[in-house]
Amino acid sequence: MLKIDGLCTYYGRVSVLKGVDLVVKKGEIVALLGANGAGKTTLLHTVSGLVPIASGSIWFEGRRLDGTKPHVRVERGIGHSPEGRQVFKPLSVEDNLRLGAYRRKDKQIRGDIDGIYDMFPVLGKMRARIASDLSGGQQQMLAIGRALMAKPKLLLLDEPSLGLAPLIIDQIFTVLQSLRTEGMTILVVEQNAAAALSVADRGYVLETGQIVHSGSGQGLLNDPTVQSAYLGV
Ligand code: ATP
Repeated sequence: MLKIDGLCTYYGRVSVLKGVDLVVKKGEIVALLGANGAGKTTLLHTVSGLVPIASGSIWFEGRRLDGTKPHVRVERGIGHSPEGRQVFKPLSVEDNLRLGAYRRKDKQIRGDIDGIYDMFPVLGKMRARIASDLSGGQQQMLAIGRALMAKPKLLLLDEPSLGLAPLIIDQIFTVLQSLRTEGMTILVVEQNAAAALSVADRGYVLETGQIVHSGSGQGLLNDPTVQSAYLGV
């Protein structure tokens, strides 16, 4: 579904991604792991079109993606739940979800909002509250719900577990698994390698802009190098 070949990106003259190759197949959860500053967020931004690429290519469903505008990528099926959630704080929960569907013209939006409330019941209870009243975990659920409202084929998730209590992290990763069961494809950036690898079909480890390990979720969980660097074993 997504194929990234030889991707290089710079901020000014500083090289951030240095020849990244990565594949996400339809229906997979793929985890992208790595330390602070490795370039994980930058990689997601190149896929959703927020950061231009210097060289290499990005393909989505067999068609070239790089060079297209971010809103075109949303229409082609790329959904992005960004780092730090970035919900619209003065707006209600429901309006945040509605905004996720801003490029849609179909009549299913109401039903899909109710679907998000089924997935995250706490959001249903707080539908009229402004987003700044929500806890960090609830804002993360809202950010995921808002991205899903665009009806993406591929969901990009940046650090969904950041700053959240273990119980909430479990809840969010359980939702990711059920989304996968329903056919969603997910590329998730995480520093919580254990949580991400426990649900991921495959994973990649990015270090200073280069992929240094890749393999099945289970394989990476059992890899001694990954264990000592990212799992605190
Ligand atoms: P983190 O988990 O801290 O977000 P990351 O792996 O997602 O780390 P990036 O946020 O992609 O890493 O950052 C990669 C490198 O690029 C870092 O050295 C960062 O300081 C730098 N960087 C990120 N955004 C910018 C920017 N807008 N301008 C200049 N440098 C940037």
